Amino acid sequence: MRLDKFISECGIASRREVAVAARKGQVLVNGTPCQRPDTHISEETDTVVYMGERVTYRRFTYIMLNKPAGYISATEDGKLPVVTELLPERLRRIGLFPSGRLDRDTVGLMILTNDGALSHKLLSPKHHAEKVYFYRLASPLAEGAEKFFSEGMTIGGEVCKPAFLTPSEDRESGLVTLTEGKYHQVKRMFESLRNKVVFLERISFGGVSLDPSLMRGEWRYLTEEEVETLRKNS
Ligand code: URA
Repeated sequence: MRLDKFISECGIASRREVAVAARKGQVLVNGTPCQRPDTHISEETDTVVYMGERVTYRRFTYIMLNKPAGYISATEDGKLPVVTELLPERLRRIGLFPSGRLDRDTVGLMILTNDGALSHKLLSPKHHAEKVYFYRLASPLAEGAEKFFSEGMTIGGEVCKPAFLTPSEDRESGLVTLTEGKYHQVKRMFESLRNKVVFLERISFGGVSLDPSLMRGEWRYLTEEEVETLRKNS
């Protein structure tokens, strides 16, 4: 693979930036400055250092984002801000997209990747990847709601898979675990009990939990272990 392609596919710099850095002697291949960005290298055996940093080749990129309210789960929208705008420019060029949707006012864990196959599996109803949400309600949860959720309720004529509630003591908030993702599902499930979700945060997806050190709007790469967990749970 070409050296500039190798570095840009890792989301580290554009091909143009690689060409500039290479000219300045800031790109090393096996310890030696390489001035030609079209040099062919082996992803497996060559060691590449870009501006002092070792570049490890990854075919796909996996990002965890703590989504703030006000952003659309998409890569572009005519008018409204989209989640990919929260990523640096270099990561917006490598085809990342959100794996699944959160409503504009929902916050929390969003996985972005360019691994279409893994994303497809995570979202497929066949594979049952678990999603856990923290909710806050307008009024305390009705008695018996846990059973209603776990038996698989019907919303808008569609039967839902069993969902599990862990309410707080005052029953005004809690956790809900789903294994599917129908349109506005959590909000509609509580609506069917004549309640209203006033705050919704996804805290876990496919066995990967939202990193508490990430502020709203912040992101980080998934660790190898987290990617492995997603694979196992997809
Ligand atoms: N359920 C909802 O109602 N909204 C979300 O954003 C996610 C799940």
